[in-house]
Amino acid sequence: MSGIAGFHYHFYQPPREDPWTGLFNHEWSAWPYHDWNERIAAECYRAMVAVALPGDDGATSLFEPLTRSSFDLGPTLHHWLSASAPDVDRALQHQVRATSAAHRVVMAAPLVHAIVPLATPTDQARLIAWGIDDFRARYGEEPIGMWLPETAVDLGALEEMARQGITYTVLMPSQARSTRAPHEEWRDVAPDTLDTSRAYFVALPSGARMTVVFGHHDLSHRVAFSDLIGDGGGLAEVMAAEVGAREGVVLVVADGETYGHHHRFGDIGVAWATRELRETHHLETALGEWLRDRRPTDEVRLHEVSAWSCAHGVERWRSDCGCVTGERAGFDLAWRAPLRDALDWLRESAGSALDRELDHHVRSTAGALLDYGKVIAGEWSNVEFVARHQNRALDDDERSRVLEICEAQRNLMFSFTSCAWFFADPGEIETSIVLRYAALALELTRRTTGRDFEGSFVTRLARVRSAQHDVAGAALWRRACEGFRTSEVQIAAGAAAEYAVGASFARGRRGTWRIDYGSRDGDQVRVTLTNTRTLRKFTFLTHVTLGVDLGLHVDISDTTMWRRVGLERLGRDVVARVALARLVAPGSSDVESALSLLAADLLDREASRDDEVTLVALASTPRYVTPVGEAAIRRALLAVAARDRVVADRQALGALASAVGLSATFTPAGALRVSH
Ligand SMILES: [Zn+2]
Repeated sequence: MSGIAGFHYHFYQPPREDPWTGLFNHEWSAWPYHDWNERIAAECYRAMVAVALPGDDGATSLFEPLTRSSFDLGPTLHHWLSASAPDVDRALQHQVRATSAAHRVVMAAPLVHAIVPLATPTDQARLIAWGIDDFRARYGEEPIGMWLPETAVDLGALEEMARQGITYTVLMPSQARSTRAPHEEWRDVAPDTLDTSRAYFVALPSGARMTVVFGHHDLSHRVAFSDLIGDGGGLAEVMAAEVGAREGVVLVVADGETYGHHHRFGDIGVAWATRELRETHHLETALGEWLRDRRPTDEVRLHEVSAWSCAHGVERWRSDCGCVTGERAGFDLAWRAPLRDALDWLRESAGSALDRELDHHVRSTAGALLDYGKVIAGEWSNVEFVARHQNRALDDDERSRVLEICEAQRNLMFSFTSCAWFFADPGEIETSIVLRYAALALELTRRTTGRDFEGSFVTRLARVRSAQHDVAGAALWRRACEGFRTSEVQIAAGAAAEYAVGASFARGRRGTWRIDYGSRDGDQVRVTLTNTRTLRKFTFLTHVTLGVDLGLHVDISDTTMWRRVGLERLGRDVVARVALARLVAPGSSDVESALSLLAADLLDREASRDDEVTLVALASTPRYVTPVGEAAIRRALLAVAARDRVVADRQALGALASAVGLSATFTPAGALRVSH
């Protein structure tokens, strides 16, 4: 039997990284996890790496479904996994290397989850090249397959992929227009009439060919949206029957998060099905392996432009086509086009200014930016990158300028992350995040070129309106960015606070920042920050005042003027660490006891604003919250609420109350309602 019946997993999450710090924002809705990446990693990624299945003899053994299938793992998600769930990343690398060549199992993906057909030709080349760099840095091999975000495709995208060495991709049946067997006429096809049991080729204008394998229309849909995955043995039967006696393909294509996250225990179902297909039905299950010696003979013509989650080409990511997820009464999609236009305009205007500036320092602007993917992937250091591309010996300031320009371009690219247009409301995190990437790109453009495009950009957002939050244009922009922009002053002040509660306890690295502490000068400490991406350095003099209880503020000077930074602006990770150092015995990191102590303490005194900030920070920092900790948080919240003063900004406290199940005692304004 030489057919294949298997699965392709598209693993991806919208980026959640704070562009200014490289840290991941906390999300109350993912409680008790720090954020949704962490939660989905527990439910799906960690589960899918090794699934415990009972065998015939009753003993349980571990089955590794990923390397017996086909998958792509979005580079931005993979970056998070490497940093925050290294066990998953490492296990994956070991498995891939032990079972097969990586390029037979893993498909590469463009670095950013952007709609490739909507990108400029320059950006298409960069998206694909940077994705290939990421693959090479992780697996030490060149990829041969590439997954396109949203399977959004046109001939230009395929042509660029072929030019960069990619030989196959996976699409869905709705994307095919017509097919023909050798020496036969073209035949129009529909999703339910396309024969997906064979691989096809697309003849590209350049003369190159791209192999396309289509997911099984009906089975892919049923696995993603029904309970078909609940019975792994039954699913294997259905898939094997579909292959029948033919040398055919039955490929179930779905988001990887279907297994374990969207469908609880789906990881077990799909692992069971995969093992059955291999051991009982004796079928190949890994697409890349099956394609190894096969050259498709049938040709397919695709629709001019298409994607798997829009019935109107790629309109979902630039106009009100009607395709939407998460809609509610009163919503409209009129914001999509102006958001796309504004970002296209910014990419063109800021991008050109950045290119002109970069041109002064490197031999080839286009060549340097294409190679910058090797820096993002960690294959080259940024020092090595500049050394290779500089057109003369650059000093430290010029080197940082080159890197800041590249970072501005990277953030512009990230601002096209497709999730921004996918959902119903632009006030939500997916759209806010692309605006933050744009905000950092604007900042870096201002710093390196002296050109300020922010005003014009924000004007172009005028018709981008969030119905849910009733904000548009400049107000929407402020909502997305305010409270998220993190200045060097805040980073340095946070570092000083950690140093003040324990020199050995203070971190030398926080997100993308390296931190060096100078010797104490009286009661002042010199803090030097280095941005590890741009190598730009900043030095400050700091003085920390530890108030009573948990109160704290930092006075800080860049040698021109002193200013004061309060606890609430230091960042939740810093506040939690500082509080732990002050609340618990030296050497301990017992969050539960810290929370319990705080709750006890707040019964004896009136809570301060810094107590509130600390309470929220402790609850939102990575930790293992046991029932003891949760109960302590509830107790502490009630103690805070027992005061009569109303604090203006109670949003975080309100979110915390919801997370621990006290939302019923909250008024809409965020103040707790307590009867004495
Ligand atoms: Zn659509």
